[in-house]
Amino acid sequence: MTFFSPWYCFAAIASIVFGIFFLPGCAHTMLATGWSNETGIKDIFETTERISMAAGLSNLSMADDLPDDTERSVGQLRIHSDFPLAGQHRLIRELDTMRTTISQELEIPVSDEPIHLYLFNDPADYQTFVQRHFPRFPGRRACFIETDTTLAIFAPWQGRIAEDLRHETTHGYLHAVLPGIPLWLDEGLAEFFEVPQPANGFHQGHTDHLTGRLLEGTWQPRIERLEELEDAAVMSQDHYAEAWCWVHWLLRTTPQRRQLIEDYLHDLRRDTVTMPLSARLRELEGPPAATTCAVREHLESL
Ligand SMILES: [Zn+2]
Repeated sequence: MTFFSPWYCFAAIASIVFGIFFLPGCAHTMLATGWSNETGIKDIFETTERISMAAGLSNLSMADDLPDDTERSVGQLRIHSDFPLAGQHRLIRELDTMRTTISQELEIPVSDEPIHLYLFNDPADYQTFVQRHFPRFPGRRACFIETDTTLAIFAPWQGRIAEDLRHETTHGYLHAVLPGIPLWLDEGLAEFFEVPQPANGFHQGHTDHLTGRLLEGTWQPRIERLEELEDAAVMSQDHYAEAWCWVHWLLRTTPQRRQLIEDYLHDLRRDTVTMPLSARLRELEGPPAATTCAVREHLESL
């Protein structure tokens, strides 16, 4: 998910918020403890300081500002909106289909764990909601929140809603079966699946960005740098683009690389403490310099 939120350009306080709101990527956090159930969400946010401290959330209840006019269940998705939204909306059907697409692409199982989508008709309402409840991530167009019991997405229904929801829903599907997935890979896969299906994972924006950085001589692929990331709030456009690039290289070049990422995800499901992808790549591809060269060549071939 990328950049420049058109609706926000018209905000009255644009001069104050431009620096904050022109941030790349999604807001994405995991909470130490969670919403006990669908109906308990309000109580938890009223009473659980641990959540508030973990994610920088306010202590105020969400009861009065969560979208709840319309509720739909479509597959694994529980969609709550403050405007009429048909369950057969083309985008909703697409999000539902992604569950199978992601499972088949990565050879991971599907889950029945609900993923809640809270959709705001008015971007200003979403903005107010985020500033109130997720102050750590004031500048992102959409939020994905994971607790130990709940997967939830918050987003305004604006011009780039399809891209945003494909991205955030990917997080939901992944975390339903891979709660320990490393941040960089989580984001790289979300960027891979946020493009429409016909693009087959190819992201023109990231390709252009990284190609430009290569020409400038200001960037080289290095997976170890991505593996050190622990906080989505510090991720830059470079990080999102590079994470996508590594995922695209792994999934769209050779069967051996595809097998490597599938094996890694399989091992992560069994135990989050497993050999990192960078170490596995050294076994498969040789020294890091050779891998860096291969990723560069892949990028230049796109
Ligand atoms: Zn994300």
